[in-house]
Amino acid sequence: MSDIDIARSAHYEHIKNVAEKIDIPQKAVMEYGDYKGKVSYDYLRSVSDRPDGKVVLVTSINPTPAGEGKTTTTVGLGDGLNRIGKKAAICLREPSLGPVFGVKGGAAGGGHAQVVPMEDINLHFTGDFHAITSAHNLLAAMIDNHIHHGNELGFDLRRVAWRRVIDMNDRALRDVTIGLGGVANGFVREGGFDITVASEVMAIFCLATDLEDLTRRLGKIVVGYTRDKQAITAGELEAPGPMSVLLRDALMPNIVQTLENNPAFIHGGPFANIAHGCNSVMATKAAAKLADYTVTEAGFGADLGAEKFFDIKCRKAGIRPNAAVVVATARALKMHGGVAKDDLSKENVEALKSGCANLARHVQNVKKFGLPLVVAINRFPTDTDAELQAIQAYAKNELGVDAVICTHFGDGGAGAEELANKVVNLVEGGTDQFAALYPADQGLWEKTRTIVREIYGANDIIADKKVRDRFKELEEEGYGHFPICMAKTANSFSTDPNLKGAPTNFDVPIREVRLSAGAEFVVVICGAVMTMPGLPSKPAANEMYVDDEGRIQNLS
Ligand code: ADP
Ligand code: MG
Repeated sequence: MSDIDIARSAHYEHIKNVAEKIDIPQKAVMEYGDYKGKVSYDYLRSVSDRPDGKVVLVTSINPTPAGEGKTTTTVGLGDGLNRIGKKAAICLREPSLGPVFGVKGGAAGGGHAQVVPMEDINLHFTGDFHAITSAHNLLAAMIDNHIHHGNELGFDLRRVAWRRVIDMNDRALRDVTIGLGGVANGFVREGGFDITVASEVMAIFCLATDLEDLTRRLGKIVVGYTRDKQAITAGELEAPGPMSVLLRDALMPNIVQTLENNPAFIHGGPFANIAHGCNSVMATKAAAKLADYTVTEAGFGADLGAEKFFDIKCRKAGIRPNAAVVVATARALKMHGGVAKDDLSKENVEALKSGCANLARHVQNVKKFGLPLVVAINRFPTDTDAELQAIQAYAKNELGVDAVICTHFGDGGAGAEELANKVVNLVEGGTDQFAALYPADQGLWEKTRTIVREIYGANDIIADKKVRDRFKELEEEGYGHFPICMAKTANSFSTDPNLKGAPTNFDVPIREVRLSAGAEFVVVICGAVMTMPGLPSKPAANEMYVDDEGRIQNLS
């Protein structure tokens, strides 16, 4: 059965009944139809003094085309915890239309570990991305309008730093010229579009702790510079008020359900390169107040996703993680050991063992944040017993951690019960001592160096004078206490996506440094970043249609 067939044949509970499982009263759920809802601000405020439940991060080895399965493992673990009698909720990111119509790949889990209603979640959902797009573009319109009506703030037209966004993979919009057509249409200047998930408004939305914090952060966005290079902020344009008007409803966390009718918060979805790549703080904090166990996923591998989850999200929002799950697959470990994609279905224990070097570094890294962890082996049909045993032996003997075989993809929560028990043991062991990797008052250059040395295993960072000067400038402008948001390839510890396993003896070249003043982090860019993807030669969109009965077909 395909993912969508499994999803369609499942029994859905009314969303109010799902919410009740974590004691959310019916009147606190704003319904968006029968199976989607938002949890009201009033109710969230009323539980804000409760102690937090346990928070578990699901992260993974460096992604390969062989697939890892963080989302499916998050869903499976959430269902597994509920099966063993724990009150558990999961937190995931909202999917973007770009990848949904671009490269096929479910963002709502798969097999028997899915969140539903899958079509809604993958498409317009509760309209959050629309609200974020509108808020972003309102600011853009206000900038050009300000310039048109006299440019009192003195924007240098060549240094407007705020682009426009749309939730679509559309490479033709990357660079555009706006204001053409004569005096009535404003001033001609170069502009461009990014995909909505790359908007700083999205990052702010996901880090804001409440509406007030959202508005405060929106005001700090640097939208451009004057001719003498003084920053101009969204606050000076009086944009934060109307932007938060557009975002008011969106900031309430969305609640849906897993196939086993357990609560799932799906809220916000920032890029994992130029942003931090996790669902909203609002959702994670709500889940932590309401459930005994909150299971959440961070984008990409642990070198990017987990590091940013810990150093940016948890540190800034005061979320205390208690344990981590590092997802690995035999197939992906074989790829890290040098096996080509076409040969993955053949048993190859030797290659797998050498690929375990990648797992080892991630495990050691997670330990540096003071967290107990377990490895989840997401089982694929082609995996052999010898391969699975080799991973378990490696984890136990070389890394001193347990590796649990999980079959939630085929079996749902039952396939992740052993993992759930293990996670409960880890958490109840009380050994967690979460600590960020670097102190906030360390210099920006030094923080970046700490990340690449401690997490990537690199020798050092290198950069041109221009880039090094920018680090200093940002400190002089008062941003030195911000955390670092690394933007590098997800496929390797290094900046070369082809260097699998655990590369050593390399430097990390820094190409550019960008300020996200409202999101309150400094983006350090190593290599190319794409903020407006294009569609592939045969987009997933080509296969989709609505059938005679009005059902959507081929949305994965
Ligand atoms: P991630 O969150 O790490 O990107 P997902 O959990 O979304 O990974 O899984 C990626 C893809 O692989 C999805 O299409 C999912 O359905 C598929 N997948 C995950 N686990 C398995 C498995 N055990 N067997 C077969 N397919 C799987
Ligand atoms: Mg995922």
